[in-house]
Amino acid sequence: MLVATTKKELVDALRHLTSIGLVPTMGALHQGHASLVKAAREENDTVVASIFVNPLQFQDLGDCDDYRNYPRQLDQDVELLNEAGVDIVFAPSVEEMYPGGLPLVWARTGSIGSKLEGESRPGHFDGVATVVAKLFNLVRPDRAYFGQKDAQQVAVIRRLVADLDFPVEIRPVPIIRGADGLAESSRNQRLSSIDREHALVLPEVLHDLDHRAKSGEPLRIEDARARLANSEGVTLDHLEIVDPATLEPLGVDGVLKTPALVVAAIFVGPVRLIDNIELHPHI
Ligand code: AMP
Repeated sequence: MLVATTKKELVDALRHLTSIGLVPTMGALHQGHASLVKAAREENDTVVASIFVNPLQFQDLGDCDDYRNYPRQLDQDVELLNEAGVDIVFAPSVEEMYPGGLPLVWARTGSIGSKLEGESRPGHFDGVATVVAKLFNLVRPDRAYFGQKDAQQVAVIRRLVADLDFPVEIRPVPIIRGADGLAESSRNQRLSSIDREHALVLPEVLHDLDHRAKSGEPLRIEDARARLANSEGVTLDHLEIVDPATLEPLGVDGVLKTPALVVAAIFVGPVRLIDNIELHPHI
């Protein structure tokens, strides 16, 4: 396995390769990332994983605690990726990625990037789309793998690819959860054991909505919001029911008639956690 830290090393290594799968990450890898690598390994001759904590997608462009406190563990991550069968790890420094400081030209994600997560984290998806566009240009993957855990990110990247004509196929990968139901996340490392217990209300509420949709019961979204808002140790950021492709609010509260996506974000202690579930109507 090659670990490239400069763009030149990366581009040179990829020059004559065919069928490339790209797995973009910010490191602090867990089973969720491993399942992306597994999917990429099954469908491509060459698998490239990137590890880069992108300052552009953090509020204040990296000048914030979430960016500074983001777990960084490159050696451990490289070992995990090697074992998972990755061919090339791209782990550039911020200087390498953005020589001369912040870019002047960005990808702008408009309305799809400014709702939901984008409302709580202004500019986040412009930062994501910009770094992903750069990775697509450097790696030129045939396929790129993104977790359904970040459902809005998948929708934004699909629009990036469609709107800017990137010749890459976007492959979404299902959410991987721990045994207790909490979606795997690098930020879970920052939860104490009591925080983690408090956080479990999030998958429980989503699971309950899934159950209601499947059994044809009214969803009662307001009750779900109240359960999160009143839960010990938890602050509700948002819980919304939206169209899975456009992320437009569906405004359903009764019995579900069409497929839908429920997206939610909560704060537990210092950590902001997101989760989502696709709902399918009772048949
Ligand atoms: P991150 O390192 O958090 O930027 O995540 C890198 C990629 O892994 C993104 O496409 C995420 O959606 C995906 N990912 C993170 N957590 C999970 C999970 N629990 N299940 C599936 N994919 C995930």
